[in-house]
Amino acid sequence: MNLKKIKEVLEGMPAFREKQVMGFIFKNFVEDFDEMLSLSKDLREKLKEKCSLTISAEEFISENKDTVKALISLADGEKIETVLMRHEDERNTVCVSCQVGCPMGCAFCATGKMGLTRNLTVFEILEQVLFFARYLKKDGSSVTNVVFMGMGEPMLNYDNVMSVVRMLNDKNYFNIGARHISISTCGLIDGIKRLADEGLQVNLAISLHAPTDEKRLSLMPVNAKYPLKVLMETLNDYYEKVGRKIMVEYLMLDNVNDTDEDAENLAKLLSKERFFLNLILYNPTGRFMPSKGGNVKKFKEILENKGFTVTQRYRFGRGIKAACGQLATEG
Ligand code: SAH
Ligand code: SF4
Repeated sequence: MNLKKIKEVLEGMPAFREKQVMGFIFKNFVEDFDEMLSLSKDLREKLKEKCSLTISAEEFISENKDTVKALISLADGEKIETVLMRHEDERNTVCVSCQVGCPMGCAFCATGKMGLTRNLTVFEILEQVLFFARYLKKDGSSVTNVVFMGMGEPMLNYDNVMSVVRMLNDKNYFNIGARHISISTCGLIDGIKRLADEGLQVNLAISLHAPTDEKRLSLMPVNAKYPLKVLMETLNDYYEKVGRKIMVEYLMLDNVNDTDEDAENLAKLLSKERFFLNLILYNPTGRFMPSKGGNVKKFKEILENKGFTVTQRYRFGRGIKAACGQLATEG
């Protein structure tokens, strides 16, 4: 599917024409120009001849069908992964990628091992949501939430990510409320500062994963440039501006960051009024092991006893390698 070609065909026509075609694609999720009945037959034929609405993707469905992974092929042959998670409460969350690979090199992450190939375009990100919007339309449901937690670092593709957020939010297109969109970052403070000034109600998630500089640096090279003091100042400023609680993502790594002392340090670092915690069960991709169940429970209790809200991320899609941090197109 190539949006540029569609725009080329529509060039010179009245602006409402383009809006109409975009509406068919991004609101009605039409997959065939022949279904765009309010266009003239001539125009439909021309569009059919010059453009395609097909999204090239391979689909993998988990055994219990709650997770679907799509491996989408882009025009230049690069591949990206997108995941749909179907929750019991009817929410359908799409986890999108914003880069091919990622340059941030976090030690625990499969995408990080790939390095960065390139940023995705606005349309390449939207196409991922569109793929699942079409998929869900078939059984009468729709995409309710979008999280930027797939491959890549959103703050390194900031402008495109924001354009996507606005398209998703737009009532004439996907119509997904900003509060149902989450952006996760490893802690690039320029991006967090810019986001604070956007005036959007999107959710910010921060991949913290360790409560001290020493531990965090051993897991996440970004901590060398932006140590915890700078990061926390930025996050606190963000909270003051936006007034929405920030989600702290914390991977539970056996014997690395899951001790009682780590929990105590984490509680000291964060204010319970401004942050809530999401403990992530680690999906092994190399040298780390997931924390033992008992340790996760204890860690959670220590923080809860101090008044923090702590959620635990359910493991979606492990069988089809569709879980967080397992997204990598090779291997
Ligand atoms: N680059 C952004 C967003 C993509 S990663 C970020 O780092 O926040 C989305 C989440 O998955 C992050 O919290 C990341 O730390 C986590 N993650 C990475 N590898 C993982 C793994 N193997 N198992 C579970 N979560 C992982
Ligand atoms: Fe990049 Fe996020 Fe993976 Fe780190 S965790 S390497 S920032 S995708």
